[in-house]
Amino acid sequence: MSRSASQFKIHANEKARDLRHRQVIRTALHGYEIVRDKCKASFQSWESARQAAAEIKWEAVNHLDTHLEALVAKLEARGTKVHWASTGAQACEIIAQILRDKNAHLMIKSKSMTSEEIHLNDALEKAGFTVVESDLGEFIMQLRHEPPYHIVFPSMNLTRGEIKDLFQRELGDAPSDSPEELTMVARRFLRKKYIAADVGLTGANFAIAETGMISVTENEGNSRLTSALPKTMITLIGIEKVLPRMADLALFLPMLATAGAGQMMTGYNTMYSGPRQPGEADGPEEWHVVLLDNRRTELLADAEQRDSLHCIRCGSCLNVCPVFRNIGGHSYGTTYPGPIGAVITPHLLGLKEWKHLCNASSLCEACSEACPVKIDLHHHLLQNRRNAALALPAHCEQLAYKIFGIIANEPKFWWLAKKIGWLTQPLHRLVNGSVLDPVRPFWTKTRDLAPMPRESFKDWWKKRKSN
Ligand code: SF4
Repeated sequence: MSRSASQFKIHANEKARDLRHRQVIRTALHGYEIVRDKCKASFQSWESARQAAAEIKWEAVNHLDTHLEALVAKLEARGTKVHWASTGAQACEIIAQILRDKNAHLMIKSKSMTSEEIHLNDALEKAGFTVVESDLGEFIMQLRHEPPYHIVFPSMNLTRGEIKDLFQRELGDAPSDSPEELTMVARRFLRKKYIAADVGLTGANFAIAETGMISVTENEGNSRLTSALPKTMITLIGIEKVLPRMADLALFLPMLATAGAGQMMTGYNTMYSGPRQPGEADGPEEWHVVLLDNRRTELLADAEQRDSLHCIRCGSCLNVCPVFRNIGGHSYGTTYPGPIGAVITPHLLGLKEWKHLCNASSLCEACSEACPVKIDLHHHLLQNRRNAALALPAHCEQLAYKIFGIIANEPKFWWLAKKIGWLTQPLHRLVNGSVLDPVRPFWTKTRDLAPMPRESFKDWWKKRKSN
C-alpha cells in the first residue's frame, strides 16, 4: 500500500478533516495515557528503567553479530532449523518453500508486524496457500482486506457497529455489537482453523542470545494456539530483536506492556526453545526460525540513526503523536506509521519515495519523551529532512532560499524588499486567500498573512536614538 507524497497529502488532508475519524481514534486511545502512567508509577524509577533499557539495547545492537551467532547456535543445538533472509522476498520464498515441503494448504498466523513489512500474506496467497490471521484485530483487518492501522491495535479505526456489520457480511454471524459476543464469533471461526492448519507462523518480541529462546508476548492466547496445534511452526523475526540475556526480560516485558497498552504485564508470555523433544507430550514436531535482515544491516551501519533498531514496537510514539492522532495509520501508506515509521521507512524502503514522511511531524518531541528505549525520534526526523534535502534537492526551493539569502545579506536589498512589501500590501489584502494570491498554495489557503507593521524595528530604533 505504498503512497506517493501527493497521495499522502491528499489522504492525510481528508483524514485530518474527518471529525468522525478523529473521534474514533480519540475514543480508542481514551484513557491510554492514564493507565500507562499508573503502570509507570509502579516502576521504582521509570526514567532509570528507560535508561537501563536503552543501554541493554545499545549493547545488543552494537554487538549484534556475536549475539546472533550465540542465538543461532543454541537454537540449532535443540533441533530448530534457522534460515537467514537478506530481503523480504527471500523470507517469503523460504516460508513458501517450507509450506510446499510440508504439502501444506492452510497456514494460521499470529500477529507479526515483520510479516506485514514483507507482505507475506500476499506472497503466500499468490503462491496458492491460504493464510488466516488469528489475532482478533488482524483477523478483522484481513476480512476487510486492509493492512493494520496501528502496530499494536490493528483495528483501532473501527467501531463495534462496523465490526458487527463486517462479521455479518463475511461470516454470516453477528448476534449483537457486544465485544464479548463478537469475540465469540471470531473464536468459533478461528478454532476450526487452528485444528485444520498444517503450519503455524508467529512473530517474536524478543530473542534471547544467552539461552537461544524466542519470547512472544500477547493478550489473546492465539499465538500459543498457533504454535501448539499445527505440526510445523515458523517464527519470523527481525534480526534486531535480540536481547543478550534472559534476565533482560525482567525489564523489557513489563516495559513493553506498560508503554504499549498501559498494562503491568501482557496476558500471555511464552518462551519457545525448540521443537518437541523426545518424551514431550506437545509442541510442534518441526520449528523453523527465519531471521530477517531487509536493510536492517544498512541501518546498523548508520551511526547516527542506529538506535532506531532499538525499537521494541510498543506503539507508544504513535499514541502520543498529534499528527498520527489526526491523520491515522493508513495515511502513511507504510507498515510502520507514526514517528518510528517516519524514521525507519526511508531506510527500509528508500529515501526517494518516502522522504515526505519526515515532514509529517510537528517536532513537538512527544514521541522521544514517550519512547521506553529512548530513541531520539524527533532528531532523527530532522536528520531525515536534512538527508532528503542533501540527496534529493528541490531545485525551486533551493533557488528561493538562494534569492532570500542574497536579499537578507544585503541591507539595501532588504530595505527595498520591505518597501515593496509595504507598498503592495493593499493589493495583497485584495487577493488574500483567493486564487490570484501567489502564496496561496503554501500559506494563505488556510491562514491570513500577518499585516506588515507601519514601521520596522530598525526604523523605530533609529528614530528613538535620534530623539
Ligand atoms: S520508537 Fe519507541 S515508542 Fe515508538 S514504537 Fe519503537 S519503542 Fe515504542
